[in-house]
Amino acid sequence: MVELSLISKYPFLNASKQYIIENNISIKELLDDPLYERARITGVERLDNAFKNRDVGNRSLVTDSDQIMELISYPIARMIAVCIDDIYFKRRYALGEAVHAYKNLINESTQFLINIANEFDLNVKFDRDTNKISIYFVDYLHHAPTRYKEWKMINREMKNGYIQISHKDLARIIQEALRTRINNELDERKCSKTVYDIFSSDIKRIQNSVMIHRKNIEAAPIGKLDTKKLPPCMKNILAAIQAGENVPHMGRFALVSFLHSLRLNNNEILKLFSTAPDFEEERTRYQVEHITGYSSSTAYTPPGCDKMRTYGICPTEETEELCKKKRHPLSYYKAKWKQENSKK
Ligand code: SF4
Repeated sequence: MVELSLISKYPFLNASKQYIIENNISIKELLDDPLYERARITGVERLDNAFKNRDVGNRSLVTDSDQIMELISYPIARMIAVCIDDIYFKRRYALGEAVHAYKNLINESTQFLINIANEFDLNVKFDRDTNKISIYFVDYLHHAPTRYKEWKMINREMKNGYIQISHKDLARIIQEALRTRINNELDERKCSKTVYDIFSSDIKRIQNSVMIHRKNIEAAPIGKLDTKKLPPCMKNILAAIQAGENVPHMGRFALVSFLHSLRLNNNEILKLFSTAPDFEEERTRYQVEHITGYSSSTAYTPPGCDKMRTYGICPTEETEELCKKKRHPLSYYKAKWKQENSKK
């Protein structure tokens, strides 16, 4: 039997679901029993905190009652998030849960992290004699935030297909795996009318805040870029970044160098990235300035179509007629402009 104090901190674990099943707590009770009123309030608080602070937040977990309410607030928050029905909000909420879990995980034992990693089907090995942790490279590539320099494969040691990682790295990889899992689960579920009716005022309030947030972003002028004329590859990378997906470094590199070639300045490029739910201004600015030559001696040129294909970032199944005639994403964009002007 897993301790209640533990599963209240990690309500996404199988043991947490098991606790709810074993205690016969029905969805109806979660939603309308006065006993769980506090859990419902906390569920909404998780969502508000995730949206404002990218972390679902800390609450007192001293008593059994505190812990039960915290545990139950998680499925409630998820049900409401589905009804808010906004991709940006859902991504932001998933990030808030994952970041919160990470902050707790770094203080747990390595064995505990290994157990969670196993629950996420991550192929992780822990050598107790040497205290070394390693992860199978496929899982590493799938979940590690390789957009950051220290996470790039080139900066990691691989032995027999396994990459050595630290305790903190493993917590970060679990953060990403959790974020992806929540994103997928939220996308798969449909809003329940009962949930909508019970939380309608909070749902409308949050939808409204998201709408204002979106408008503020969209109102910001972004150079002369016309996103409708972007080639499919750049459209996909930009959409993935803005939705908070884990875009490989090459994708980010291709997009930044492409936008730089279109004469967008660094702030304009940052503005495009800033809509991502996991946007970190300082790190992104560093990467952008490096690629555009502001903080390095080289301003990199964007890769051509052959290179894009080699790196797997040309969506070959989505390419258009125009793609067949062009060998560089920039040529595609310029041709689109010409097509448009000739129609006028
Ligand atoms: S063919 Fe070139 S321009 Fe078209 S999507 Fe692929 S990389 Fe982009």
